Amino acid sequence: MTDSSLGIVLSTRDYQENDALVKIFTLSHGKKMFLVRGVKKKNSALARHVQPGTVAMFNGKFNFPGLSYLNSVGEDFTPENTREDFEKYSYAIYFLELADKAIEDDEPDAELFHFLVGMLRKLDDGEFDPAALRFVYEMQLLKRLGVEVDFGQCAICGAKQNFKDRTQAVEFDFNFTQNVVGCAKHFDLPTLTPRAAYALGLLQRGKLVKLSAETKEAIRTFTREYYDAFVGIKLKSRDFLDNNI
Ligand SMILES: [Zn+2]
Repeated sequence: MTDSSLGIVLSTRDYQENDALVKIFTLSHGKKMFLVRGVKKKNSALARHVQPGTVAMFNGKFNFPGLSYLNSVGEDFTPENTREDFEKYSYAIYFLELADKAIEDDEPDAELFHFLVGMLRKLDDGEFDPAALRFVYEMQLLKRLGVEVDFGQCAICGAKQNFKDRTQAVEFDFNFTQNVVGCAKHFDLPTLTPRAAYALGLLQRGKLVKLSAETKEAIRTFTREYYDAFVGIKLKSRDFLDNNI
């Protein structure tokens, strides 16, 4: 019997002479490791489908638990632009690696699956700033990684951010000691500019806003420190992005 599922290739690594071990985030069963035989041979029909970021219908023998086997791949979305663009590819690898950390083997997560597919497509399209995509992704993944922060409300006095009218915005900030978002007036030392805190609230709500270089840098520094302090995931792909892009 053949099992099938839509999936996203998270990573691929060589295995023995001609084979590869391919980690796939399947829609039906979450994360699974597949052995793909003969994929490194010149005429392999599967080779192009097992590159990171490919979205496709994967067919084979799914085992629970243990190694699964991939036999064929159906119609897919291949992020062609991303493969040819060093910057986009670096972002894609980071998105995939972070998803890998956020999900467990054999536990489906349809919401994250579709969200990640959307991110990979947007990245490939090139319509949006990849940095804004990254921040949306990082902020929305926090809940799955077991932590939550809300730039929409002050945790101290309850004041709500006004996302409809920028001119009526409350000046928010984040306090690392207390791990809370609050009105800037409650804290002695500033972490973020009001502009960056406001943008974080919008990004957290999935809004791909235009960011100035200064705000981008402030948010990058904040998300990095936040992940380091509260999530505890340090990914090589993120260091690569921060050092090279
Ligand atoms: Zn307040």
